[in-house]
Amino acid sequence: MTINFTEPEERVALREAVSKLASKYGREFMEKQAREGGKMTEMWLEMGQNGFLGVNLPEEYGGGGGGMADLAAVLEETAASGAPLLMMVVSPAICGSIISRCGTEDQKAKWLPGIADGTLLMAFGITEADAGSNAHNITTTATRDGDEWVLKGNKTFISGVDEAQAVLIVARTEDAKTGKLKPALFVVPTDAPGFNRQPIEMAWRAPEKQFTLFIDEVRLPLDALVGDEDGGLWQLFAGLNPERIMGAAMSCGAARYAIDKTVEYAKTRSVWKDVPIGAHQGIQHPIAKVKIELEQARLLWQKAAALYDAGDDFTAGEYANMAKYAGGEVSCNAADVAVHTHGGNGLTVEYGLANMLVASRLGRIAPVSREMILNFVAMHTLGLPKSY
Ligand SMILES: Cc1cc2nc3c(=O)[nH]c(=O)nc-3n(C[C@H](O)[C@H](O)[C@H](O)COP(=O)(O)OP(=O)(O)OC[C@H]3O[C@@H](n4cnc5c(N)ncnc54)[C@H](O)[C@@H]3O)c2cc1C
Repeated sequence: MTINFTEPEERVALREAVSKLASKYGREFMEKQAREGGKMTEMWLEMGQNGFLGVNLPEEYGGGGGGMADLAAVLEETAASGAPLLMMVVSPAICGSIISRCGTEDQKAKWLPGIADGTLLMAFGITEADAGSNAHNITTTATRDGDEWVLKGNKTFISGVDEAQAVLIVARTEDAKTGKLKPALFVVPTDAPGFNRQPIEMAWRAPEKQFTLFIDEVRLPLDALVGDEDGGLWQLFAGLNPERIMGAAMSCGAARYAIDKTVEYAKTRSVWKDVPIGAHQGIQHPIAKVKIELEQARLLWQKAAALYDAGDDFTAGEYANMAKYAGGEVSCNAADVAVHTHGGNGLTVEYGLANMLVASRLGRIAPVSREMILNFVAMHTLGLPKSY
C-alpha cells in the first residue's frame, strides 16, 4: 500500500486561495483590531463568502463537502499569514461537526448554512471554573420541564460569545433510572433571558475575547438538545477531536509565521562586518530545530484529520491529542526563537512578536492541556495505570 505524504491538488489549491485572501489582512490587520477593540469580522465574512469557513460541512447545507483536513488546512494558512481565525476552531469545527453528525434535519437546516458562510457564529462552552481539566466534574445541568429544557450553571473562558448568535453548551442531564449525570449538548441563543456574560481581562492581546457565562434558569425549546440524550460521549468527541486537530493546525500556522519572520530577519540583520546574523550556527540551529518540530507536528495533525475523515473516531482521538501536543510545543518554541533572534526588536510592539509569546501558550493550555495529553497517551496508548 502506498502512503501518500503529499496533499491532493485540490487542497493545495485551497491553501493557495486562502493564503492569498488572508495575506490581504495579515498580522497588521489582526494587531490593529486587537489594539482598537475591533473584530476579525471583515476577514471572517470574506472567508465565508469564498466558501473557506464551511469546507468541512455537507454541501446540501451550504458547505464545501470536504473534511476536517481541508478545514484545518484553511486555518493553518490564516495563521501562517499572521491572522489566525480562532473562532474557526469553534464555529465550523466543533459546532459544525457536532450538528452535522448528530443534529436533526431541522437543526442542520437552521444552523449549518450560516456557520458555513460565516454569517452565523456559534461559540462552544464546556469549561467550568470548578471543573477545569476535569470535564467529568461539570455541574451545569439541564432539566426537563414539560416541553422545555431548563439550563442552570456557569462556564468560563468561553471564546467569542460577544460575536456569537448562539453557544453550544455542554450540560448534564439526569438519568431517570440511575440518577447519574450524563453529558448533553444544547444550542443556547446568546440573547436568551437568563443567559449572561462577563468578559475576562486577558493578558493576550487578541480580537477574540473570553467570557465567564452565568446560566440562570435559561428556558429552551426541546429541539435545543443536539443529539441523543443517551447518545453518550461520542457525540461530544465528534466535536472535540476536530477541536484538537484545529488547535494543532492553528499552532502550526503560527509557528510557520514565526519561522518565516525569523529567517527573513536573520538573513538581513547584520552586526558583524557584512555577514548577517543568520550566518552563525548559534542562530541557525534553533531555527532549524523548530522547523523540524513544525514538520513533525504538521504530519501529526494531517494523520489525525485523515483518520477523522475516514470515520475512525477512536484512532483519530489518539492522534488528535498527539497533534495538539506537538502543535502546542512548536508554537511556543517557534515564538521563543523568533523573539530571541530579533533581539530587542523582538520585544517591541512594532514587530508584533512579543504578543505571540503569550498567544503561543494557548496551544499548550487549551483546549486540553499538555499534561492531560501526556496522561491520555500514558494511559490509553501505552497502557500505563491511570495516574489522576
Ligand atoms: C484563551 C482561551 C480560550 C479558551 N476558549 C474556550 C472556549 O471557547 N470554550 C471552552 O469551553 N473552554 C475554553 N478555554 C478553556 C480551556 O479549555 C481550559 O483553560 C483548559 O481546558 C485548562 O483548564 P484550566 O484552565 O481550568 O486548567 P486546570 O485544569 O486548572 O489546570 C491547571 C494546570 O494543572 C495541570 N493539571 C491539571 N490536572 C492535571 C493532572 N491530572 N495531571 C497533570 N497536570 C494536571 C494542567 O495541565 C494545567 O497546567 C479557553 C482557555 C483559554 C486560555
